[in-house]
Amino acid sequence: MKLRFVCQALIACLLTTVAYADHHGEKIQVMLLTGQNNHGWEALSARLEEILDEAGMFETDVVVSPKLGEDMSGFKPDFESYDVIVLEYNGDVWPRETELAFERYMENGGGLVFTHAVNHTFKDWKAFNLMMGIGGWGGRFQESGPFVHWRDGKIYLDDSPGQAGACVDAHAFEVVTREPDHPIMKGIPPVWLHGKDELYSNQRGPAENFTILATAYSDPKHEAHWGPMTHGTGEHEPMIFTTTYGKGRTFGTPMGHVDNGAKVGAPAPAMDCEGFITIVQRGTEWAATGKVTQKVPKSFPGKDKVNLR
Ligand code: ZN
Repeated sequence: MKLRFVCQALIACLLTTVAYADHHGEKIQVMLLTGQNNHGWEALSARLEEILDEAGMFETDVVVSPKLGEDMSGFKPDFESYDVIVLEYNGDVWPRETELAFERYMENGGGLVFTHAVNHTFKDWKAFNLMMGIGGWGGRFQESGPFVHWRDGKIYLDDSPGQAGACVDAHAFEVVTREPDHPIMKGIPPVWLHGKDELYSNQRGPAENFTILATAYSDPKHEAHWGPMTHGTGEHEPMIFTTTYGKGRTFGTPMGHVDNGAKVGAPAPAMDCEGFITIVQRGTEWAATGKVTQKVPKSFPGKDKVNLR
């Protein structure tokens, strides 16, 4: 009886040690999935990889899809081996088997991170749109869900018809925190100035299990492009948000433009912004684990001055 107790205690102790080693000494495993985008995926993914490496807590494998228009039938990334998938992809539809594998991965507690033009992709993949929460362009109209804005201190859904997606001339803009107690936002200033970027508006989508963490004002004094608007919407647009899908977590932002054809390493103020870098690092940790252990750097921008790396 006594021996059995000792054995049980020993086994319990060993199991605890193994669990501890699993979750504390090892880095968060990241798949950075890229290969197609209307925004220079090479430059984008190289910068994202740098941003992730710099945090010191992620181990990143870059998975490159077939090129736009090439045969996708053999594209079957091993999602299950990763804590979080950072998607830098806007392109051809995946094989249904790959879509289903990704749905299972998210349902079972996977993580998804996406920035900027990723929100154009996969308009007809219903589960993916539930994971993203909101998107733009790519053929999205009212069937994709309501327009999502922020009014009077809360999310505002607008069922008006019209194309999803517009953006105003790239400029530095203020990002306003709306959920200061969310793990991603703890310690982030209430208002900060983001480096010159395209400010997306008119995002629409199912927005289920969706939380807006920060917004930016689409000022009508700016001219708008790539959509039905001639000028900014005069609305506070979702800029940082989370979605849950099954047990999975998504962190998303429409920030992070780089020019199509940009060379790897070329300056891109939207991605060189200390605020953007910090938010992506924190959002990726949260999507992977549900927590954020990183400190907000002292160099995080305030509302008066952009801080670029
Ligand atoms: Zn862009």
